[in-house]
Amino acid sequence: TTITNHLPTAELQALDAAHHMHPFTANGELAQKGARVITRAKGVYLTDSEGEEILDAMAGLWCVNIGYGRDELADVAARQMRELPYYNTFFQTTHVPAIALANKLAELAPGDLNHVFFAAGGSEANDTNIRMVRTYWANKGQPDKNIIISRKNAYHGSSVGSGSLGGMVHMHAQGGMPIPDIHHIDQPNWWAEGGDMSPEDFGLARAQELEKAILELGEDRVAAFIGEPIQGAGGVIVPPETYWPEIQRICDKYDILLIADEVICGFGRTGDWFGSQTVGIKPHIMTIAKGLSSGYAPIGGSIVCDEVAEVIAGGEFNHGYTYSGHPVAAAVALENLRILEEEGIVDHVRDVAAPYLKEKWEALADHPLVGEAKICGMMASIALTPDKASRAKFATEPGTVGYVCRDRCFANNLVMRHVGDRMIISPPLILTPADIDEMMRRIRKSLDEAH
Ligand code: PLP
Repeated sequence: TTITNHLPTAELQALDAAHHMHPFTANGELAQKGARVITRAKGVYLTDSEGEEILDAMAGLWCVNIGYGRDELADVAARQMRELPYYNTFFQTTHVPAIALANKLAELAPGDLNHVFFAAGGSEANDTNIRMVRTYWANKGQPDKNIIISRKNAYHGSSVGSGSLGGMVHMHAQGGMPIPDIHHIDQPNWWAEGGDMSPEDFGLARAQELEKAILELGEDRVAAFIGEPIQGAGGVIVPPETYWPEIQRICDKYDILLIADEVICGFGRTGDWFGSQTVGIKPHIMTIAKGLSSGYAPIGGSIVCDEVAEVIAGGEFNHGYTYSGHPVAAAVALENLRILEEEGIVDHVRDVAAPYLKEKWEALADHPLVGEAKICGMMASIALTPDKASRAKFATEPGTVGYVCRDRCFANNLVMRHVGDRMIISPPLILTPADIDEMMRRIRKSLDEAH
């Protein structure tokens, strides 16, 4: 059989189950019910093989910032494939898409973040960062300054290196992680862990855990701290405002490199070009992926400050990927950045979409199932609770409220994700107020049904 969209759904599902291993999935269980087959997408809507239109409040995996179906990106990809579909930049060669994208990123990134090392996605980029910060200190004559401090409930990718940085235990426990010399401190999740403290005091206390860890491990052993400006996959945890300035102070004081993982926050999601700008930090390295190409082509990378790039350039950096700076992906990313810029999409987030969504989102706290409702730009979460006053938690095993809620959303043609005791969204940035009204209607309906 030729497998096309024209086959009946059940047949496609059977063929999928027979040969396709889905990521982050209990494949045996999925095979029983069959995966939903997505056939096309336009704007903020997906279409499935039954012709249902699904509002994608996750922008794929937090990545389709400009929305689906932009022909300009397809045209650029086709043109680039005809002209130069592939060449590498390893052995004293370069090409125009890599040059142009690196220059554009240096222009967009704040301060002296002027140098780009490309990868095919966020996991690869964070692997680059692990090796880059350790090589930086080794080149400076401090090879023992190699511990990287990360956070519990962080997500930095799924390769062995980036997965070791991650702190979502159930995701990262399998398969021999973590690698040595990674240390995790607690996350700034006030709702779940703040107890009687005010959010401000709690934010400070959680940041000061970094200082404690540095003093315990030894200032001359700690290479870097890595964090997502707003934790995404861990449940869209918006930290108290006191948190990041204190982290910055501590990194400065002890000469620790600061890595901001901007894979989700970058390219407009927080209402600025980068989440670092929203939370007011000056990282030495930013991890980028996802919104860099709005997911239209796999590409990521590390944007590196002048000083780190200079020290790395002092020797050979024995690291790189076949698809580092892939010309088609780079050309697609450049076109995506042009659209983000020329159509004022970051301004749209800051001035229109995010303020409108914030008002509607925070009103969800009235719902009987909802504890806190948190939002930063176009990423938002609600904590589900059986008792708001005590901030009690529902059980999180399969079949419990979070799963029911997610399944009701999907049945109501809305993609919304569930993680632990939180429900999260990260929609395309082009969402209009009318789209937001429709999304909120489906969310409220699903919450009512789950209650
Ligand atoms: N870093 C963050 C903050 C992420 O959210 C993700 C993916 O969700 C990654 C890294 C990994 O990126 P990728 O899946 O492209 O390897």
